[in-house]
Order: sequence, then C-alpha cells, then structure tokens
Amino acid sequence: MSLGSNLGNPVKHLREGILHLEALEGLEVVKVSSFYETAPWGREDQPPFVNLCLEILTSLTPHELLEATQGIEKRMGRIKKEVWGPRLIDIDILLMGEAEISEDDLTLPHPYMTRRAFVLIPLGEIAPGLRIRGIAVHDWIAALEDQSVTRMP
Ligand code: ADP
Ligand code: MG
Repeated sequence: MSLGSNLGNPVKHLREGILHLEALEGLEVVKVSSFYETAPWGREDQPPFVNLCLEILTSLTPHELLEATQGIEKRMGRIKKEVWGPRLIDIDILLMGEAEISEDDLTLPHPYMTRRAFVLIPLGEIAPGLRIRGIAVHDWIAALEDQSVTRMP
C-alpha cells in the first residue's frame, strides 16, 4: 500500500493512518518504509507530500480492503474535493498478490504506480525483489524521469 499526506503535519497524519490500519480486523502491517518527502505530482501548486509504502498481510478481499481504507480516509477527515489535490491522507492499494482487477472503483495493480517515484522508491526499500508486470521494481525506477523524492531523517 502507498500512503501520502500533504496537509498540516503530514508525518503525524501518516503515523495515525498506520495506527488505523493496524486496528483493522483481519489486517496486519508487516513492513513500513521510511518517510519520503516528495514534490507534488499531477498538480504542482500545493505543499510537498510525505509518502511511504507498507506491506500488509490480510484476509480481506480487495474490495473489502478498499472499503476499509476509504473508511479510514473519511474518518481522518479527508476533504474530498479534487483528484490529485491536497489531502490529509490518501491510501492507495498497489498490489494484492497476483490479483488483476479493472473495475470502476478498483484497479490492481494500481494504474499509476509504475510512473510515480514516490511510490516506487519506498516500495523498492521494503520489497527490493518485487516485480511489477514482470519488471523489477529497480528497473521501473531507473526508467523514470527525475522526480524529487528525498528520504526523511
Ligand atoms: P488518487 O489516489 O489517484 O490521488 P483518489 O484517492 O481521489 O485519487 O482516488 C480515488 C478513486 O480511485 C477511489 O474512489 C477508488 O475507488 C479508486 N481506485 C481505483 N483503484 C484504486 C486502488 N488500487 N487503490 C485505491 N483507490 C483506487
Ligand atoms: Mg487514492
């Protein structure tokens, strides 16, 4: 999963998001990456993001997981205004095993993950051996244009 925040105190929101995920029934957080500061993507007139990736073990189905993560976004007071706009927390599901889904409300693997350095770099940290559509995560990273993603101290 990929978490991001760019409003208020993003590190605090991300920590809170992780706690909400850990509190879910049928879900265990097994790995959390470092926090990365990222220049805004898609729309540049907004504060920098902080992003991280985490690995979970879950007995939830993909749609149950989506419902749960959207519930957390809502409870944390995400103001749903514009796609790619500022948000308290954004929780995206990147991959669930080999699942391939393309439905209106859920696409897996996440459609933008291989174009976003702020997803691939933290993902490569926690899953260096991972392959996405047959290509190693580090090869996806090498293929990206420069995007500013800095590991936070
Ligand atoms: P983004 O994450 O691209 O900035 P939003 O979080 O506002 O944008 O996007 C929302 C919609 O994306 C959600 O309503 C959700 O149904 C849909 N969606 C499709 N695939 C996924 C996925 N893999 N993870 C999370 N949301 C997804
Ligand atoms: Mg999202």
